[in-house]
Amino acid sequence: MANEIEMIRDGGVVGAGGAGFPAHVKLDAQIEHLIVNAAECEPLIDVDKILLEREFKLVYEGLKVSARLTGAKKVTIALKDKYKRAIEILEGFKKGGLDFDIFKLGNFYPAGDEQTLVYEITRKVVPESGIPLMVGCVVINVETLLNVARATQGKKVTQKYVTISGEVASPVTVRVPVGTPVQVLLDFAGGVTADQYAVFDGGPMMGKVIDHNGYAVKKTTKNIMVLPEDNIVTVQRKRAIKGQIKRSQAICLSCRMCTDLCPRYLLGHDLFPDEMMKRLYKGDMDQEDMKKFDYAYLCCDCGLCELYNCVVDLSARAIFNYLKEELPKRGIENPYKRQEITANEFREYRKVPVDRLKQRLEVHKYMDTKFAEFDGRVDRIKLYLVQHVGAPSVPVVKEGDMVSEGDLVADIAPGGLGARIHSSIDGKVLAVEEDNLQIGKA
Ligand code: SF4
Ligand code: SF4
Repeated sequence: MANEIEMIRDGGVVGAGGAGFPAHVKLDAQIEHLIVNAAECEPLIDVDKILLEREFKLVYEGLKVSARLTGAKKVTIALKDKYKRAIEILEGFKKGGLDFDIFKLGNFYPAGDEQTLVYEITRKVVPESGIPLMVGCVVINVETLLNVARATQGKKVTQKYVTISGEVASPVTVRVPVGTPVQVLLDFAGGVTADQYAVFDGGPMMGKVIDHNGYAVKKTTKNIMVLPEDNIVTVQRKRAIKGQIKRSQAICLSCRMCTDLCPRYLLGHDLFPDEMMKRLYKGDMDQEDMKKFDYAYLCCDCGLCELYNCVVDLSARAIFNYLKEELPKRGIENPYKRQEITANEFREYRKVPVDRLKQRLEVHKYMDTKFAEFDGRVDRIKLYLVQHVGAPSVPVVKEGDMVSEGDLVADIAPGGLGARIHSSIDGKVLAVEEDNLQIGKA
């Protein structure tokens, strides 16, 4: 009989909250504190809340397994104080044999950022460029725990909970096969209601614009969101980096709001978006000594500076993301590794309320969703070979092979970090491409 870590590895379990870190690696550590991330701080996503309300029995089984594997001395489930129904359900499990705390978070962004969450609960700051394990914590998402429980029952990750939100006729949260085409989801939600629009994988703060014609649900997809072409989020995401830099050089007011409300700066990290903007004044960034921009490595891509903090609509985030790609190419490494860090004394008063953020993002008119059983047709799936942190998975099937739901179709690359991928339908392998596999229903 395989041990539980092997079963989680065999099941292809990865961080389902968006990060995609392989769970068999994350849970193969001895820790002080296991933290369940049910904060779901991005607007327009309801997956965690719905899972806590509908599937907590299974989530709780996954939590018991994870606590046992990690030897955690303390277990905390962190969720929004406003999730009253979910809190009631969790309270009901308190006598189920596992000693856990419920930590109620305010409705601020980014409450679900791992480092923010660790600080809120433990008052420990994760070192710069570090991970929660460095302060004795592992943070795990609700749906990941559900998949951990299923894996220890011999089941594979073949289903994904996804909210379909924004400009669709009937926003909804569903469970669908991994690899389901996004167009199938949009049709299930009654179709797109805007004339000109963009589709995102993720929420308004951290989601990525996708070409929905070819895109399919990944193990990390939590939200398929449609926003109008002229929404502030869409406009920012579609600005080219050259234009972002030129606008910054022309109109930055040096007001410092981007830094003063940056969650990583407020945790005490050496990250100063306003300083970066000032250093752009001298002209073409490519001619500058890029070393002076190396604190880009500390940016967690939360999007607050771009979508909330800046009064003139500039994006330090976009420039930091550009720098994070450029710096390694020029041999400039991340020097930021400070361990002993004290959070900013004003942090508590500078949390961004989600309700105000929604207004700013022009998404306040979109309502919360409810769960609905998915009864759409999925005739063909696309399974990306990278839907996790690590090396691309290696196909173990070829065109023409017949597969059943749960069959292994791509394995972890030898010696590498990665995750197994399984077919989510019964069918025939139609294509094996460089970055994906396609399977058609038998
Ligand atoms: S995106 Fe902006 S606000 Fe968020 S961590 Fe990066 S610099 Fe700070
Ligand atoms: S908030 Fe905007 S205007 Fe103010 S310093 Fe930052 S980038 Fe410049």
